[in-house]
Amino acid sequence: MSNGDIPCPRCGRYYSRQGVLDHMRDLHHITRRDAGNLVAAAQAQAKPKPKPAQDDDDGAAWVFRALAQQNKEHRAAMLAKADTTGWQQLSPYHYRRWFYDTRVDWWPSGGKAQVFTKGSGQPPQMVYGHRRVAALVERLKGIERAG
Ligand SMILES: [Zn+2]
Repeated sequence: MSNGDIPCPRCGRYYSRQGVLDHMRDLHHITRRDAGNLVAAAQAQAKPKPKPAQDDDDGAAWVFRALAQQNKEHRAAMLAKADTTGWQQLSPYHYRRWFYDTRVDWWPSGGKAQVFTKGSGQPPQMVYGHRRVAALVERLKGIERAG
């Protein structure tokens, strides 16, 4: 049963351009970025004949546009749901907070933080990923609550 014209590179089922990325994530546990790259590669391979210039956009370009749009929406959603209570806002995307001697610079949309502990002798450390950053902040808030 077909509901689109893009075959999944893993199982060959057909999906819409958007749907194939969801399918690959849900069924094959492939991240959207990897799925996009796999589909783009499969699409490029599936086109043995040279295309007329006006068809260039039919190749891999839509995958990257779709990923860029998803990324943009994801960043906006992460920023919108971020609890920035108690944080100093340094820019629309950049927040800072001290937990005792530990300074955290936080970019909620990108899921990125920089942690620096005064007097530790250690340089600032980057933490990447929304979940890891959330876990870090929860841990520091817990220490703060415990006094
Ligand atoms: Zn599949």
